[in-house]
Amino acid sequence: MNVRETVSGNESVELRRPAEVLDALVLGGGFGGMYMLYRLRELGLKVTALEAGSDVGGAWYWNRYPGARCDVESLVYSYSFSPIIDAEWRWSERYAAQPEILRYMSFVCDRLDLRKDIHFNSRLASARYDKETNLWTFVTEGGDVYTARHFISSAGPISAPIWPDIPGRESFKGELYHTALWPRNEPDLAGKRVGVIGTGSSGTQLIPLVAEQAKHLTVFVRTPNYHALANNRPLTDADQERWGHMRDSVRRRLRTWEILGSGDLFMSEEELATRKHPGDHYTAEQRREILRRRWEFGGAVMPRAFADVMTNEAVNEEICSFLREKIAEIVKDPETAEILTPRTFKFGTKRICVGTNFYETFNRDNVEAVDVKANPIERFTEKGVVVGGKEIELDVVICASGFDAVTGALTVLDIRGADGQAIKDVWSHGSETYLGFGVAGFPNLHMIGGPGSPSVLVNVVMANEYQVDWIANLIDFMRRNNHQRIDVDPDAQAKWAQTVRDAVKGTVLENAESWYVGINVPGKARGILAYAGGIANYIKACDAVAESGYEGFRFS
Ligand code: NAP
Repeated sequence: MNVRETVSGNESVELRRPAEVLDALVLGGGFGGMYMLYRLRELGLKVTALEAGSDVGGAWYWNRYPGARCDVESLVYSYSFSPIIDAEWRWSERYAAQPEILRYMSFVCDRLDLRKDIHFNSRLASARYDKETNLWTFVTEGGDVYTARHFISSAGPISAPIWPDIPGRESFKGELYHTALWPRNEPDLAGKRVGVIGTGSSGTQLIPLVAEQAKHLTVFVRTPNYHALANNRPLTDADQERWGHMRDSVRRRLRTWEILGSGDLFMSEEELATRKHPGDHYTAEQRREILRRRWEFGGAVMPRAFADVMTNEAVNEEICSFLREKIAEIVKDPETAEILTPRTFKFGTKRICVGTNFYETFNRDNVEAVDVKANPIERFTEKGVVVGGKEIELDVVICASGFDAVTGALTVLDIRGADGQAIKDVWSHGSETYLGFGVAGFPNLHMIGGPGSPSVLVNVVMANEYQVDWIANLIDFMRRNNHQRIDVDPDAQAKWAQTVRDAVKGTVLENAESWYVGINVPGKARGILAYAGGIANYIKACDAVAESGYEGFRFS
């Protein structure tokens, strides 16, 4: 019988009961969710994936702002598991733009016939574990109910957008956008006075494109970030051929943490080798030359310039001053250059931005940088915003203000464990997990890109693939051994949480002030959200647990 219930604070909706019990429900139709669905289906399991958007893509579905482009090179920001996909897909540029990534994901979805098992426009509201039946029950905002043995979350590490903490937003009568909630009908910014709040990866990609359309662009800069040239370009036939030859070894070396991206693929072995040596292995002139070449090469290759970038303050500062000099060289107005120059944090404690024409954009007559560090934006008004007691009138405000990263996509939901506890309460003092996969008290919950996994600190697609394979093997193991329930041992969880904390000890991340540690969300527990020990060590730890028969987990 169908019943009515209040779902997620909405007025009562009719609940539609499920016809069958699924083996697994996968949350999210991004890279991790799509591959998870594929792997479990290959194992012969009954699986459904839920996706809030109307199509696949995950972060790339929502972040469709002008200029959105991946800052990891396309050749390695793609699946490695399927020879069919490798053979049939060809990336057009060094860094893929958002529409091309969406096309790729849609192509994979069709090629593997995944679409029929993904329920689109289905936003999950709640998930509860029932310890009598050992099943999860899920309710979507639209009132669809599902039950499944396993709950696999691939909700995305950067999928819960946050608005700037500025009062009066609802009073603004102009157009208001968030980069991560960009409308499908492209807003027309021509001839308008536009304000952008935020100069992280999203803001710095968006700003050059908005400047070309808007009558006037005001960029509100609170904490300027370090920025590297993308040096984007079309991929040539020669690149494709080289990739064809080197693909397997590049992918292997990515997993052993020897290289970070396909940027390294196009670097000579000699240039790559500098990452093995500490900065003082080289003279000051040699170091400068290494940095210059990495700058010219483009992309996020500075963190790997030397072995001790993250642990040696002097080496770290040398990179900071190199990047600061570049700003002074490019931005013509010294006051504007100063507003855009990072001085308050160490290199690597925030993710470096990678883009095209960001600094050059501030040499345009229609673009102005406003320092809102000393004088924060006080409030929104009907006509714009107030800074330093003065109203700045705007037709459009674009917030590129970031995310409640890594945990936000789950804490926003009503997820309850075996004893009715909510995950948002369990994580209110810190998001401890076991290997990033499971949480004590939440049986049969498996996370892809969860807190305590390398997630945002590594190539996300590669890490997703490893985690999906690991989870698929675990579920297969349970099925073969007729286990209905898996629990995380709290001691194993506490030990892994310590490993995650230890991984940042003695590195600049230990005192990071960024979304990496949750500081950008009011009230969020502070602590490193991702395992920073590198993908190779992570894989070693997870492989060892699997080989031991899943030590640290309990089966029943
Ligand atoms: P973000 O790095 O968290 O940046 C948010 C920006 O908004 C910061 O500059 C922040 O300033 C500013 N801000 C927030 N509230 C403000 C206020 N009240 N007044 C003034 N400024 C305010 O967010 P993001 O740029 O969306 O990037 C988040 C992550 O997503 C990236 O680090 C990256 O991992 C990923 N991403 C990747 C790509 C890509 O692949 N190319 C593109 C976009 C995003 P403060 O620093 O002072 O708080």
